Amino acid sequence: MRRKNTKVENKTRGTPRKHMPQRTCIACRQTQNKRNLIRLVFSVNNIEIDPKGKKPGRGVYLCPYRGCWEMGLKGNRIEYTLHARLGAENRQMLVEYGRSLPEKEDSL
Ligand SMILES: [Zn+2]
Repeated sequence: MRRKNTKVENKTRGTPRKHMPQRTCIACRQTQNKRNLIRLVFSVNNIEIDPKGKKPGRGVYLCPYRGCWEMGLKGNRIEYTLHARLGAENRQMLVEYGRSLPEKEDSL
């Protein structure tokens, strides 16, 4: 039972479709299909959640899971990545949004 070719190792689960752009979650650093992430856009001292990923501006991506939002907000990663400062209200809005999201499942 020897196999000479082990090319297909990465195909075990969740094979990405070829034409989907990939983005990295700033919290857990996992690369995902862009559609599976939530984009945050910073424009003129204001941060917005951009679920469709269409707004212009500098953006960061987070998984749609509570843990990633907490992690991303905790360490100023969003600010660091965006080179911007989040106001207290913006931060609070993001914290609350994150709380409305489900926990990540271990199997993912
Ligand atoms: Zn994540």
